[in-house]
Parts: sequence; structure tokens; C-alpha cells
Amino acid sequence: MCDCIFCKIVKGDIPSPRLYEDENFIVIRDINPLCKVHDLIITKKHIKSVNEIEKDDEKIFASLFTVAKKIAAMENMSESGYRVVVNSGKDSGQAVPHFHAHVLGGEDLKGKLQGM
Ligand code: AMP
Ligand code: ZN
Repeated sequence: MCDCIFCKIVKGDIPSPRLYEDENFIVIRDINPLCKVHDLIITKKHIKSVNEIEKDDEKIFASLFTVAKKIAAMENMSESGYRVVVNSGKDSGQAVPHFHAHVLGGEDLKGKLQGM
């Protein structure tokens, strides 16, 4: 049985309100927000990190940034700006080994969150 927390959220075994969903991704709010808006774009497929993305997965990631753009619009950050961050592997500090992109904003992030 898969013991991955994001797989459990994708399957609905752990309830987490979805801001957005399509065939490849769900978007939820981060449980421990590091700034005013902190959302996570999570692949439905269990892919551990950028390093485990295979050629066949390219169709999944083709829409990643358009999803980020949609979330930014939903969160009213299109004009003010935002950051999209993907940690991959040990030295990045990646804590959950299931691909996710952080969408961060809602406040001035210049000089902030350098250690996330
Ligand atoms: P990373 O360090 O890039 O792997 O980020 C993992 C993120 O997942 C952190 O910002 C956590 O706060 C967040 N997180 C962990 N568990 C949950 C959860 N159950 N619901 C929402 N966010 C979570
Ligand atoms: Zn998973």
C-alpha cells in the first residue's frame, strides 16, 4: 500500500479542499503557509521528484505553468506577481517525495523565503 501523503490527498483518503482539479493535477492550500498565499500544484500521478520524470510524463507537465497562471488569477496575484517553486531531492529540502510545485505570493516576497 502506498504510504505517500499526497497520494492519499489525491485519492481523497485524506480530505483536503481542492482549489482546482484537472486530469493531471490537483491544487490545494499548503497546510503550513510560508506567506499569505501558499498553494501546491500536485500531480495525480505519483512521481517522486523532477528527477523521476520520464519522457512519457512530458504530456503531464506541458500544462504545469498554465495551471500556475490560473491559480495566480484565482488568488488575485496576476498583477502583483508570485513565485513558482519546485524542490527536488535532498539538498533542495524536498520534504514530500511526490511532485508538487509551490505557488507563493499575496505579499512582497523580494528577499524572502530564500531557505524554503
Ligand atoms: P517540499 O519541502 O517542497 O517537499 O514541500 C512540502 C510542502 O507540503 C510543505 O510546504 C508542507 O507544509 C506541505 N504539506 C505537507 N503535508 C501537507 C498536507 N497534508 N496538506 C497540505 N500541505 C502539506
Ligand atoms: Zn504519492
